[in-house]
Amino acid sequence: MEKIRMTTPLVEMDGDEMTRILWRMIKDELLLPFVDLKTEYYDLGLPERERTKDKVTFDSAYATQKYGVAVKCATITPNRQRVEEYNLSEMWKSPNGTIRAILDGTVFRAPILIDSIRPSVRSWKAPITIARHAYGDIYKATEYRVPAEGKAELVFTDKDGKETFRETVYDFECAGVLQGSYNKDSSIRSFAHACFKYALDTKQDLWFSTKDTISKQYDQTFKLIFAEIFEKEYKEAFEKAGITYFYTLIDDAVARVIRSEGGFIWACKNYDGDVMSDMVSTAFGSLAMMTSVLVSPDGKYEYEAAHGTVTRHYYRHLKGEKTSTNPIATIYAWSGALRKRGELDGLSDLVRFANKLEAACIKTLDDGIMTKDLVGLVSEGYTATAVNSEEFIRAIRERLEKSLGA
Ligand code: NAP
Ligand code: MG
Repeated sequence: MEKIRMTTPLVEMDGDEMTRILWRMIKDELLLPFVDLKTEYYDLGLPERERTKDKVTFDSAYATQKYGVAVKCATITPNRQRVEEYNLSEMWKSPNGTIRAILDGTVFRAPILIDSIRPSVRSWKAPITIARHAYGDIYKATEYRVPAEGKAELVFTDKDGKETFRETVYDFECAGVLQGSYNKDSSIRSFAHACFKYALDTKQDLWFSTKDTISKQYDQTFKLIFAEIFEKEYKEAFEKAGITYFYTLIDDAVARVIRSEGGFIWACKNYDGDVMSDMVSTAFGSLAMMTSVLVSPDGKYEYEAAHGTVTRHYYRHLKGEKTSTNPIATIYAWSGALRKRGELDGLSDLVRFANKLEAACIKTLDDGIMTKDLVGLVSEGYTATAVNSEEFIRAIRERLEKSLGA
């Protein structure tokens, strides 16, 4: 069989631990035999980040700006324990944080659904994609533990040093707590563009929710910026695509989401997105079945699995054990990136391959061949057998070969 052609390289970001092992297996078994794979390789594994003083992470993000599509393996975000384990000269920052900051991107997370695992919310039939505004709010807030009686004020000084705003937050008569949080129009705008673009890209309705009735400046600003950008730049395209933009209060959104059939994007402020994405992924099944894509406001894409490097499995792997680690979300990162590359470069064979790779994954799961994490979630009436990662990937390969006629 002739291998499927690529023209522009994908930015390939390798990673750490168990997902690095899976990365190799996926390439060897599911990609290289079928695709004339063109990638620009960046090793974001922790040893290489240490050796390059994290330059490799920055370079990989710049390459994504240049080529437009990247695929990333999960990586370790170092903490104190990792500094010792890897003998690091510095506690390097989270690669995802670095890449997100450079691309100014929004993260979209969506679960992969299969027939044999039913969401715990019975009405859900299609995935719900959460778009989280990963900037500002409580994550960058200044906090103060108020020790005793005293006055808290909100003060703004303009760039010439003139005080233009001062208001009492609270006249404390006893001890308490105080928090100052902020966001920026530029970041909210980027978030809005990424959401509207991704909705058009995936032909799904877009919902957005805040608490603007209570937060009359802060949340209201989010609502108004979204509305303005939609009216000016996306309304027509949405009408043409047959999709809608829908704004509602967060309380109302939560109620509607639970009653819905799914199949839309839910844009959330930072904290709401943090909490709701965990709820949605758990209700749909498992973190190992969550895909994640970072989309920049100018339409650059970075695909990855939502889970981490699965450290516990890696330590067992190092002892020579065969683990049953689920590669599905990592395979979907590859298929998502290859499909996007194919669409951008007009390579229909590459798009077809990406679709067939995903179909082979679903077929394997529907045939009852699964990794351990999924077997326990299977609904009544279905039977499933747990296999190890190698066997699982081989089962996917058999089905992929069949569908490619290889
Ligand atoms: P994790 O790697 O997501 O794993 C947590 C647990 O979830 C695992 O121990 C495993 O449970 C289960 N799990 C996750 N993915 C699985 C898969 N594909 N197949 C089967 N089970 C899976 O999170 P973590 O252990 O908290 O973090 C490990 C490392 O990953 C950390 O160094 C962290 O910094 C990094 N991390 C990276 C990213 C990223 O790059 N995007 C995201 C999150 C975390 P059982 O052990 O019960 O089987
Ligand atoms: Mg969370």
